[in-house]
Amino acid sequence: MKSSPSTATHPLALLAVDGLLSAEEREIRATVRAAADRELRPHIAGWFEKGEIPARELARTLGGLGVLGMHLDGYGCAGTNSVAYGLACMELEAVDSGLRSLVSVQGSLAMYAIWKYGSEEQKQRWLPKMAAGEYIGCFGLTEPDAGSDPGAMRTNAKRDGSDWILNGTKMWITNGSVADVAVVWARTEEGVRGFLVPAGTPGFSAPEIKMKLSLRASVTAELVLEDVRLPADAMLPDARGLSGPLGCLNEARFGIVFGALGAARDCLETAISYARDRTVFARSLASYQLTQQKLADMAVELGKGMLLALHLGRLKDAGELTPEQISVGKLNNVREAIAIARECRTILGANGITLEYPVLRHANNLESVLTYEGTSEVHSLVIGKALTGEQAFR
Ligand SMILES: Cc1cc2nc3c(=O)[nH]c(=O)nc-3n(C[C@H](O)[C@H](O)[C@H](O)COP(=O)(O)OP(=O)(O)OC[C@H]3O[C@@H](n4cnc5c(N)ncnc54)[C@H](O)[C@@H]3O)c2cc1C
Repeated sequence: MKSSPSTATHPLALLAVDGLLSAEEREIRATVRAAADRELRPHIAGWFEKGEIPARELARTLGGLGVLGMHLDGYGCAGTNSVAYGLACMELEAVDSGLRSLVSVQGSLAMYAIWKYGSEEQKQRWLPKMAAGEYIGCFGLTEPDAGSDPGAMRTNAKRDGSDWILNGTKMWITNGSVADVAVVWARTEEGVRGFLVPAGTPGFSAPEIKMKLSLRASVTAELVLEDVRLPADAMLPDARGLSGPLGCLNEARFGIVFGALGAARDCLETAISYARDRTVFARSLASYQLTQQKLADMAVELGKGMLLALHLGRLKDAGELTPEQISVGKLNNVREAIAIARECRTILGANGITLEYPVLRHANNLESVLTYEGTSEVHSLVIGKALTGEQAFR
């Protein structure tokens, strides 16, 4: 027997979380959700299956929607608060983590690096077109032998007169092969510095990484720099040392705190709907206590994650958010999101393994989300250091 839909409460309505949002935040969320449902959701399974996205077209669509660098001020950016940005990330990741990754890397990593550390000329040259989605950016920090420990990077920049010569390899770079500009972090005599490398610069190439089982609806590439000559003004003047890239990562991690919950919400909505419709042993799957236990546990975690994300968003807007707090949010919300995605997959049985339903696609994507922007282990170590005063990284 099917239960009446009118008696069902949405998992996020359980804790009345919407009451904690302003009218403007709810409106921005509704706009992004409607656009995502109209422009992205119908295509996502196909993009994921092919392992290809129409990146340029997508960037223009997302730019038109105003979500690229939306939390930055000026230079064509929308200048919303952090909570609104988080909610937009959540709606995009409810479709696919790969699409949210495109937006995070563009806005929180590449644009933020230029906005925060760039010269006025660099900002004028790149930011308005990046906000509009006419230019795509990427952010090259990770290397084949330096991921969790970016201090081990080998990519280097050496002076040649007033020019810089860059050599090295960056790995796992989102948007890399479709980017018009790469923000590349390199070791110099004066410590780590950031450089803007336009696509097409001689010696610079970005081969795409294929055969991924996760984030298939996202472009991932290597960045290869072989005697890349850049003028002096290609360097970001205001980023000195690793605090430069780490400042950008904090921005992107914040978006993930909300974003991962979008994937989890989509899985839970799918599983609830499926359980209500599916008959097993002559009754609705939703009517069994074992199923309800799973759904209840997942709804509790989703609601707690949402409250945590909102709390961190309010702290960020008050200018009080610390890196340790972002680690708490990233660690918890991605960990719970992947657990929810996997549990939802069990509710869908065999149907759960197909692209007809989003759950295993989300679970696979969340494997990358668990790893990038600081792995779970790294965030645990950040929290452990805050709790004990002892650093256990090395
Ligand atoms: C799809 C995708 C997109 C990405 N996009 C970007 C991008 O746009 N730009 C970019 O710069 N990077 C990007 N990355 C790279 C990502 O940030 C790194 O993969 C991540 O930092 C982890 O580095 P690693 O893969 O080298 O793993 P490693 O650092 O080698 O870690 C391997 C394992 O060791 C653990 N570990 C590390 N240190 C410790 C320790 N001290 N104690 C205990 N355990 C430890 C890790 O938690 C992990 O479990 C992306 C990655 C993926 C998968």
